[in-house]
Amino acid sequence: MAQELFNIDKEKDFSEWYTEILKRADIADVRYPVKGFIAYHPYGNSAMKKIMRYLEDGLERTGHLEGRFPIFIPKSVFGKEAKHLAGFEEEVYWVNKAGLNNLEEPLVVRPTSETAMYPMFSLWIRSYSDLPMRIFQTLPVYRYETRATRPLIRSREIAWFNEAHTAHATAEDASKQMDVGRELYNELHHFLGVPYIEVKSPKWELFPGAAEAYEYFVRFPDGRFLESGSVNNLAQSFSKVYDVGFEGEDGERHYAYQTCYGVSERLLACTMSYHGDNKGLIFLPEIATIQVIIVPILFEGAKDDITKAANKIQKELWDNGIRAQVDNSDKRPGEKFYYWEMKGVPVRIELGPKDLEKKSVMTVRRDTGEKKSVKISGIKKELPKIFEKMSKDMRVGANDFMKKHITYARTMHEIEQGIKDKNAVYFGWCGLEKCAEDIEKGFAVTIIGEPQFPKPEKKLDSCASCGNKAKVVGVAVKDY
Ligand SMILES: [Zn+2]
Repeated sequence: MAQELFNIDKEKDFSEWYTEILKRADIADVRYPVKGFIAYHPYGNSAMKKIMRYLEDGLERTGHLEGRFPIFIPKSVFGKEAKHLAGFEEEVYWVNKAGLNNLEEPLVVRPTSETAMYPMFSLWIRSYSDLPMRIFQTLPVYRYETRATRPLIRSREIAWFNEAHTAHATAEDASKQMDVGRELYNELHHFLGVPYIEVKSPKWELFPGAAEAYEYFVRFPDGRFLESGSVNNLAQSFSKVYDVGFEGEDGERHYAYQTCYGVSERLLACTMSYHGDNKGLIFLPEIATIQVIIVPILFEGAKDDITKAANKIQKELWDNGIRAQVDNSDKRPGEKFYYWEMKGVPVRIELGPKDLEKKSVMTVRRDTGEKKSVKISGIKKELPKIFEKMSKDMRVGANDFMKKHITYARTMHEIEQGIKDKNAVYFGWCGLEKCAEDIEKGFAVTIIGEPQFPKPEKKLDSCASCGNKAKVVGVAVKDY
């Protein structure tokens, strides 16, 4: 049976586009029998792992090492930091029973790992020579979300959750570590080529006792923004509670200064949503599960030769580190083209009798449709060049795209208009929470903080809400 053509207007019907593409392109399946829990198809999971590896390489390059901490946290340990408990109490899963026995103390299923890691940090860090300590882990976390769940955006099991936790001897060292974390996250967003804003979080959003935080927001085609990561300077807010201390050079005991940062599977949602088009997904070659799909164009008489040649090319490419597959199914070539376009495979190779005669193949780029005839003998050298050009082209537009979707507002009316235009709004702000509240309530938006990237390019002298002198620039968005 012919496969139904994927053709959904991404800009106009983004919600439908997103739901359908996850299903049709074999990314994730919501039919798992626990609500809010999702099964990842290998095709989607593999792309996610490639983003994960890029990040993990960056973390290791900058002196982080991967650890592994348990999923269960005793209630008493979780609750030591009262504010942390209060923040998560309504959205953690509890384990009260093991086998037939009721547990003496209930266990929390980690919603994030501070309280699993820091008691161990307390044991592992003895003196200043053990510092800095930089540990990350990539493991699922669990949150009993009460808001509507959405695959990869708001799930109850966050299948891919990378969190890094560091401890330092001085506030200055922790502050320097913040720069490292931020650089990694800025790099990661540039690598994915998605339009994003980095903000410094408003003071009232901070964890009590924390020094500062930065958050990343990616713009989706419907004009809403999704938080894609955060970098937090916890100062001594946790170290004092979990006794993460060390003997200093002065022989005295001190509490460590800590930072933590995290990103999740949301990044896959971000890259698919931005790069895809009405025909389906477009994966960056670096993260594509299949980078090249070879479609043999079979004619009677030449079938065997073409199939053989296609399989040979596949093996040669694979041996040269290119993730190539052959579509040997019974479908017509046209159907195969649509199918693999929908799945976002970066490059298609067409191989028919005429190509074979000329000892060449036709390569087709998914993003531009650009065709190029390439000699079979040179294909393994040519493809990396096509990938490189394609990645560059796909990334280069993102920052300009983001800048085009920023409105500079001097008045409440301009804020309203910017939001209507599906933009992020940079506005002059006196910095008072009251003014942020007025804006948030007035237009059902969220003030996410002060922009760090992209930097404001216009001067905003007065607060858009109260008219007093602006101290900073704020960002208002519709968020998820
Ligand atoms: Zn104001």
